[in-house]
Amino acid sequence: MIIPARFLLLASLFGLAPGAQAEWHNAQQEIMSTRITVELWHADAATANSCSERVFSEMRRIEALMSTYIATSEISRVNANAAISTLDISPELAGLIEKSLYFSEISDGAFDITYASVGYAYDYRKKQQPDAETLAGALPAIDYRHVELDHNRIRFHYPGVRIDLGGIAKGYAVDRGIDLLLACGINRALISAGGDSRILGDRGGNPWVIGIQHPRDPAGIALRLPLSNTAFSTSGDYERFFIEDGKRVHHILNPKTGKSAEGSWSATVTGPDAMTTDALSTTLFVLGAVAGIALIESLEGFDAIIIDHHGKVHYSSGFEAPESES
Ligand code: ADP
Ligand code: MG
Repeated sequence: MIIPARFLLLASLFGLAPGAQAEWHNAQQEIMSTRITVELWHADAATANSCSERVFSEMRRIEALMSTYIATSEISRVNANAAISTLDISPELAGLIEKSLYFSEISDGAFDITYASVGYAYDYRKKQQPDAETLAGALPAIDYRHVELDHNRIRFHYPGVRIDLGGIAKGYAVDRGIDLLLACGINRALISAGGDSRILGDRGGNPWVIGIQHPRDPAGIALRLPLSNTAFSTSGDYERFFIEDGKRVHHILNPKTGKSAEGSWSATVTGPDAMTTDALSTTLFVLGAVAGIALIESLEGFDAIIIDHHGKVHYSSGFEAPESES
């Protein structure tokens, strides 16, 4: 997902309500290896600034808890020890793991945080992937049923199991940020963390118009969606990838094979909260168009657009004849 800068600029001009003292304030920081954007509508620049800062520090707190790249994070402690003994973990981490297990159950394991048992062996910047032997050895450790969560106690019932919340934590962080803005008295805002975003209210009487990146044209927009008061996430195979032997190796894995999921170029999900749209966009990407749209139709309040590996666009029933670009 991208929200093109040129678009935001345009929207900013239109967003000024006549006679209002308030205006849009934009702040950005790099957290969780992602550009975080907070845009909010407020009369006072100092308040806008302190509210955005609260969002950023909350995201840094979540990163320190949930990043597998930080050796001292709570999740790293779990990965190092939960196959050896039962561990007490924070209610917050337990809550996200519990949600993750729920998304595994409703998707027949397409979403699975134990993907990391193999996923750790990929490095997209260094163009590394596990060799066949490593993959075969680690693949049995991918299975969400290996994770036993009993309230705030966790245990892995298989050696070599690792978990990673990369498919759900950014959405969760966006929701926490929106809660903080609400507590700040703000009722028009957009928070975006890479592919995961949530809009509070609208853009001054009009919807935001959100561009969904063309999966094969880095400068292109595949679709524009008018959105207000909603969360939305896009998962794509163009975010972190390299090409080897003509094959795209990217960061969303099919838990059944331990290899990059095939069948989709991107999956976009809209719905009330970003944690769920985040998890579901990853899930639908893995499931592909047919099973993905079927799953989203079974969930009240969520809609999806999947661009399959032929470039064909599939819509759930909540989207009617949106404007498309070729
Ligand atoms: P991003 O916004 O970082 O592109 P996505 O929501 O598209 O994230 O999810 C991709 C991330 O989800 C990967 O970087 C990885 O951390 C994690 N992931 C990859 N495959 C799976 C899977 N099958 N189930 C759950 N999480 C996954
Ligand atoms: Mg996701």
